[in-house]
Amino acid sequence: MESITIQPGRLTEDDLRLEVEIWVGGEKCELYYLSDEAKLQPCAEALISATLLAAMKQRIGVIEIDLPVSPEFLAGIDQIQDVFQSWKPSYGRVEIRHAGLKQTDPGEKQTGVFFSAGVDSYYAFLSRRDQINALIYLDGFDIPLEDRAMRRRMRENLTEISRRFDIPIYIIETNVRQFQEKFANWGFSHGSAIASVGHLLAGEFSHLFLASGGSPDPNRRYGVHAELDPQWSSPRVRFEHDTNIDRIQKSRFISQFEPVHDTLRVCLRSPVHGLNCGYCEKCLRSMVYLQVTGDYEKYTVFERPLELNRLAKYKRIGASDKDLLYPALTMLEAENNYPDTAKALRKILYPPSLVKKLIVQGRKIRKKLSL
Ligand SMILES: [Zn+2]
Repeated sequence: MESITIQPGRLTEDDLRLEVEIWVGGEKCELYYLSDEAKLQPCAEALISATLLAAMKQRIGVIEIDLPVSPEFLAGIDQIQDVFQSWKPSYGRVEIRHAGLKQTDPGEKQTGVFFSAGVDSYYAFLSRRDQINALIYLDGFDIPLEDRAMRRRMRENLTEISRRFDIPIYIIETNVRQFQEKFANWGFSHGSAIASVGHLLAGEFSHLFLASGGSPDPNRRYGVHAELDPQWSSPRVRFEHDTNIDRIQKSRFISQFEPVHDTLRVCLRSPVHGLNCGYCEKCLRSMVYLQVTGDYEKYTVFERPLELNRLAKYKRIGASDKDLLYPALTMLEAENNYPDTAKALRKILYPPSLVKKLIVQGRKIRKKLSL
């Protein structure tokens, strides 16, 4: 049977860079994690997390690692495999071959949140601000590693956030997304990539929050999920899924905090200058939610104002994201502060039927003929 073999990692003397050679079948891959400040502690849990979804999707039945692993983590991995197999029956079951079981004592360290400066992670941070000691930003996740200009801009933004909220932000650069995109589905695997970083930070953190996706449907199949996140835990690091409330409520909550107005980043693209292009599907949705909450005018982070034509023409909004646009439309129509947005949104959500289109077309033709 084919296997994924994880070689012993190489950690630099300052404990800030870890390189690991991974063999996926006959193919060699190099994984790295580079921390700006927090020391990394290589462990089996981190590297099994990073590779599990690749093994499941590729139906590679074995992950081999020459390090001991905690029994609690292995039990969680079993549960995680159950969840993914119930979502995707084509995913294979993976056996973990390791160097024995280890007993580790839990110890209280810092509590952190994985943070991208978007609506979900801002909510996870600000809704428990008194509990959170530090934020962790994953460089190489949302912004591709090749996009150096945008990454630099994001780091400047994080420095600003850290200063204005008076909270440390640890940055971990990694190519784990590139690795997973090659062998797995990032929509499913990104939670495992987050867990892999969390385990490497076990020397600093004992409790880590993952922001929920902000979809009103709690059963949405997604890599960060209430049923999955806690299962990545070990005795040293506990992972917790943040409260699942929708993005309209989250947008309303985070808008109370003035520094969010010019540091929020929701964009799926890399804009030329600022943080958010203002025309990608996610920017558009986020701007609509901010209009619903009445906070839109406070925000300075979008490169251009909400363009209704673009919104009306948007066909690629996914079903689960559309779910939240229905209540958004009801609220916009009730408040009537942005009637043009409401009209454009109605067109997207309730497109005219073919019969209606033909009737309108017929009327136009008759009008022309009668002239
Ligand atoms: Zn955008």
